Amino acid sequence: MDFERPHFWMPVPAPEGRRHAFRGRRWDGSPVLESACGSALPLATPSEMDWIQCPTCWYCWNVLLEQPSEPESTCAGCPYDSGHRTPESTRAELERADTP
Ligand SMILES: [Zn+2]
Repeated sequence: MDFERPHFWMPVPAPEGRRHAFRGRRWDGSPVLESACGSALPLATPSEMDWIQCPTCWYCWNVLLEQPSEPESTCAGCPYDSGHRTPESTRAELERADTP
């Protein structure tokens, strides 16, 4: 996965009806963009209701969460972190990401 910062979130109108993450700092007006979850999605200027009503795309969310670019500030090396990742698996992910 090569999705990099920066990114922005945009609600995608119906029938998609979800908020996806896209590359860039903000929407550049392109009618179609590829989201973090790998779909080419039609974009339009969202209304306030779109922002309120569209649930976040959890696939995009997870893609962005898995980016190793941000160090964990408070809990690095802490053995009692949230528990869904072991230090071993985190290190393996980092090494994989660092390999060209
Ligand atoms: Zn998505």
